[in-house]
Amino acid sequence: MAEQLYHWIGGQKVEGTSGRSGEVFNPATGEVIGTLPYASSADMDAAVKVAVEAAKSWGATAVPKRAAVIFAFRELLVQNRDALAEVLGREHGKTIADAKGEIQRGIDVVEFACGIPHLIKGEFNSNIGGEIDLFSVREPLGVVGGITPFNFPVMIPLWMGAMAIACGNAYINKCSERDPGAPMMLAELWQKAGLPDGVWNVVHGDKEAVDSLLTHEDVPAISFVGSTGVGEYVYQTGSAHNKRVQAFCGAKNHMVIMPDADMDQAVDALIGAGYGSAGERCMAISVAVPVGQGTADALIEKLAPRVESLTIGPYDDPSADINPLITAQAQQRVENLIARGVEEGADLLVDGRGARMQGYENGFFVGGTLFNSVTTEMDIYKQEIFGPVLSVMSPSSYEEAVSMINDHEYGNGVAVFTRDGDTARHFSNAVDIGMIGVNVPIPVPMAFHNFGGAKRSKFGDTQMHGPESIRFFTKMKTISARWPSGIKEGAQLAFPTNG
Ligand code: NAD
Repeated sequence: MAEQLYHWIGGQKVEGTSGRSGEVFNPATGEVIGTLPYASSADMDAAVKVAVEAAKSWGATAVPKRAAVIFAFRELLVQNRDALAEVLGREHGKTIADAKGEIQRGIDVVEFACGIPHLIKGEFNSNIGGEIDLFSVREPLGVVGGITPFNFPVMIPLWMGAMAIACGNAYINKCSERDPGAPMMLAELWQKAGLPDGVWNVVHGDKEAVDSLLTHEDVPAISFVGSTGVGEYVYQTGSAHNKRVQAFCGAKNHMVIMPDADMDQAVDALIGAGYGSAGERCMAISVAVPVGQGTADALIEKLAPRVESLTIGPYDDPSADINPLITAQAQQRVENLIARGVEEGADLLVDGRGARMQGYENGFFVGGTLFNSVTTEMDIYKQEIFGPVLSVMSPSSYEEAVSMINDHEYGNGVAVFTRDGDTARHFSNAVDIGMIGVNVPIPVPMAFHNFGGAKRSKFGDTQMHGPESIRFFTKMKTISARWPSGIKEGAQLAFPTNG
């Protein structure tokens, strides 16, 4: 029986008025487990009105008091880790161990946000001339929209929302319509932590809900994470409506394996980063790039049997390696791309199509898949597959590997496996990629650093979390102040200088 789901506006569950809805599935069984209301622009407008009011008093709340609420929220997240992981598993499909990793990466940013009194400190200069003191302060923007993807339904709403709220804004999360349960749980935890109603809102829906956020005159900023096509649209539409927009988008992440790399470590890294979370991570490794034929042969020899032995399974099976994909459409799309790879002439070493499991016959599973002899003109190389599919390409030289990586339209993450410091250093300087791992296959920076890709993996010029998030979620005001005793007599018509 499908559960009726709601929006969360002004601290309570709200049905909405659109009359439109969508289904939420358990990807392991294919069952419909929820009916989700899709907001109309009137629903979104109602949420924005509530958030505008809430932002006024929250933005005026003393910064240490805001931090105290975030501390309390952090404790509740830790206490509710298991319950959150269960919701993630049921709606997204990821294994409990993977879900707990995601939750921890969300908590990391909440812990960073607890430091807001320090992070939001402004700048001050005493007597910059004529006894004027000059200071700059960071103020909240008001209502911030966060449009988030299905693959990290706890972590990404927290990455944006915790920082937006710490900075004194109200936040409206238009979360993914595929797995809305976790952002709703976060809403209840924020309320328990003492966050005033209306500061964290969750409004569900599709393009209509997104468009009303992008064009709403009372929403000055939009943070987006999702696919490149949608992200580019969000960036252009939001910017055309005078908003600041940051959009973190799709990826095709390469891992270069140099001849001197430890091959066992490289294979372990490819299994974890290529097939973990069924490859549905923006930092998944989807292309293995062994340099030279000898390296490629040694890699394939060890990698193929490991891929063959990966098991599929539901989120609550601790022995499962690969969880189901998010929807039947995603499963179909990935299987079509595998067929396309065969048509294009790639060598399909392990075929995950048609993977089935007793008791879960209607689940959206694709098994671990491995291609060799992939070339740069193939669609399976150009497109983000977002499934458990790894392509191996074998450039004859390191230089060829680097230019291939730089020629790809995406630039989110990359890794190099080598024991040679010179190579690692050269590689880090040479690639036009946002996040680089040296013997680290998924180089997602920690909360106190910035996260973000390059090229068409990101639109907008600020990064996620870290110090850049303070800049994104605040506006700067600069005050020049002089007291009457410092004012010289007489009107000055010339442009003021510090003389
Ligand atoms: P998606 O682009 O389909 O959806 C993202 C959000 O946009 C959702 O809230 C969705 O409802 C909304 N949306 C979808 N279609 C829309 C449209 N036509 N107009 C307006 N809004 C629309 O992405 P997804 O499938 O949920 O997530 C997977 C994608 O996200 C992958 O491409 C992945 O690489 C990317 N991603 C990127 C990062 C990053 O940091 N770079 C992180 C996670 C995921």
